[in-house]
Amino acid sequence: MKNLRFDENCELCEAARFTHWYYEDEVCWVADCEACSTPMVVWKSHGTEPTSGEVDWMLARLSDAGLQRFGKEVGSLDRTMRQIPEHFHAHIRDPQWLSRRWAEAPSKYSGVGGLRQLVR
Ligand SMILES: [Zn+2]
Ligand SMILES: [Zn+2]
Repeated sequence: MKNLRFDENCELCEAARFTHWYYEDEVCWVADCEACSTPMVVWKSHGTEPTSGEVDWMLARLSDAGLQRFGKEVGSLDRTMRQIPEHFHAHIRDPQWLSRRWAEAPSKYSGVGGLRQLVR
């Protein structure tokens, strides 16, 4: 993809690798959200208007991550951009995401893909 936009003050542009990363390509990356620990897809360009083809691609990659994490038909897509409305991203959440976030150790970065490892 050409002409990626970048905002140095944007957390999603920064794309720090702290949590588990499920997937990455030239369009997007999918990792556990640092705030809520559920898988989140992030567009690699700063903005809110990816093409519909890119949106379809990103949501499919997010669904793959949700399947890996929660199993079949458990996760539901959440496209509301609460914290960072100016950069396209979406979450996939299981029904327990709110409580699990406090009960479970966060994941840690161990390369893209592979086994999801928790912070001890
Ligand atoms: Zn989140
Ligand atoms: Zn951004």
